[in-house]
Amino acid sequence: MSENVRETGFVKINREPEARIALCKCGESKKIYGVRMEKAQGGWNCTWAFPISADSAKREGYDATILKGNLGHTAEYNGCPYCGVKVFVVCDSCKKLNCQIISGDYFTCEWCGSTGRLTDYDGAGVQSGGDR
Ligand SMILES: [Zn+2]
Ligand SMILES: [Zn+2]
Repeated sequence: MSENVRETGFVKINREPEARIALCKCGESKKIYGVRMEKAQGGWNCTWAFPISADSAKREGYDATILKGNLGHTAEYNGCPYCGVKVFVVCDSCKKLNCQIISGDYFTCEWCGSTGRLTDYDGAGVQSGGDR
């Protein structure tokens, strides 16, 4: 009596996680930087931040698409290259990212200038672009 066991192989696919570059503006230095985000469960994880000029950000199309979901960051995330902050404020008007530098209850968006009270982010969307 022989048992015929068929081996099932699992193929490991070494695939890079889906990644995007979002742009963030630093309220302290008034400069912009790119934030690399990897797709995670229910949202996006920031993995790396790097200084970038407004011109090259536009050329790369980093302001083109929308990221949906919650934002987090990995343990390795280095934070804003200018002020070191790791937390963002998403503007309700233009959906862009700002460093979370708070003075009082109100926040002013460095991109469009709108001012408002900070509320919890609902994952509605962040403007960004593809990492290609
Ligand atoms: Zn900053
Ligand atoms: Zn704005």
